[in-house]
Order: sequence, then structure tokens, then C-alpha cells
Amino acid sequence: MARYTGPVCKLCRREGVKLFLKGDKCMTKCTLDRHSSRPGQHGAGRVRKESGYAKQLREKQRVRRTYGVLERQFVRHFDAAARRPGKTSENLLQILEMRLDNLVYRLGFADSRAQARQLVNHGHFAVNGRKTDIPSFIAKPNDIISVRERSKGLEYFKIRIKLLAQKGVPAWLRLDLNALSGSVVTIPSRGDLELPFDEQMVVEYYQR
Ligand code: SF4
Repeated sequence: MARYTGPVCKLCRREGVKLFLKGDKCMTKCTLDRHSSRPGQHGAGRVRKESGYAKQLREKQRVRRTYGVLERQFVRHFDAAARRPGKTSENLLQILEMRLDNLVYRLGFADSRAQARQLVNHGHFAVNGRKTDIPSFIAKPNDIISVRERSKGLEYFKIRIKLLAQKGVPAWLRLDLNALSGSVVTIPSRGDLELPFDEQMVVEYYQR
């Protein structure tokens, strides 16, 4: 499956905000604190006034890059959000949050969404007891996301248990440390999520 493999800090520099693409590492040492200009030869040049379209495009890119989703899949998620009743922007965020790779990250089994995606791809997780290696799988409330039996003995997960014991999970999730599993208690609302973008502009971008 296609994914972005370039330097992730460059994406933050391009967007001009911290997208926290390296997880906890971003809290201690952030490239954006040292190089705040846009990447590239003319990145430090004159900053032009952005048009309405440019602002919408930037917000869309921020959302997409935060969740590590390529354009085609992102459009699919947007279409699904638009078909659901209610506010499209909130539906879109809920779909992105319910992706399996995002939940593995939110539950603390990985330091970043990129790492979570790799763990899922490598078949370390099951949903309701069934091996699920599709990062874009959309979970439902009460689905049990667990580390597969055969993966529990891996050194990575043994270390994770210690880290997870110190970390908490958001209130809308439940983590069972002994079983190395977790579930969604309730679908998060916008207030539950601290995210560095305005998702309403994404709707304006696609509906222009
Ligand atoms: Fe890099 Fe994280 Fe800082 Fe973004 S927030 S620039 S990914 S260290």
C-alpha cells in the first residue's frame, strides 16, 4: 500500500505547524523550533498573502498529513463523511479517528501513527479476535482491538507494557493492560480531540 516515505519534519515545516508526526519524540526535540521556514531553496523567502483557496488547501493537507493518509484514500473518507447525516467536518474527523492505525496509536501501542500503521501491516493486531492487517479498517464502538497472541511475546510489546502502565489513554478509549487490548467506549467529539487544524476548511476545499 502506498505511503509517504520522505522526512516527516519537512511536512511540518511545509505546513508551518507541529503535526506531531514522530509522536513523543516531538515533545523533546522538534525541528520546527530550529527551522521554522518552509523547506526548499525559496522557503525562507517573502511570505505571500494566502488566497482563500490556498488556506483551504493548507488545512486539508494538515489533516491528511496528521493522519498519514494519501490523497485518494482521504477523498474516499471525505465522501463517506459527506454521505453520513450530520456535520461533514465532524463525520470526517470521526472516520479518521476510528481508523485502526489511529486507534493503535491512540491506545499507546505505538509512538506515532506511522509506526502504528507498520505494526498493523505486519499483522500484530486483531479486531474482535480476527487478524486485521488493514490500517484503514474503520472500527466501531466496543470493537476489541488486541495484540495477537503470537505477537505478545515479542520484545517490543514486553517493553510497551511498561510504557503503557505509565501512560493514560483518552477518556473515549478503554485499555486493558493485562490482555494488551483496547476498545472505543464512545466515538469522540471535536472537544475530545486536540488537533492543529480547522477541519471545516477541508469541507470548503472539496465543496468549492
Ligand atoms: Fe518533526 Fe515532530 Fe517537530 Fe513535526 S512536530 S517538526 S514531526 S519533531
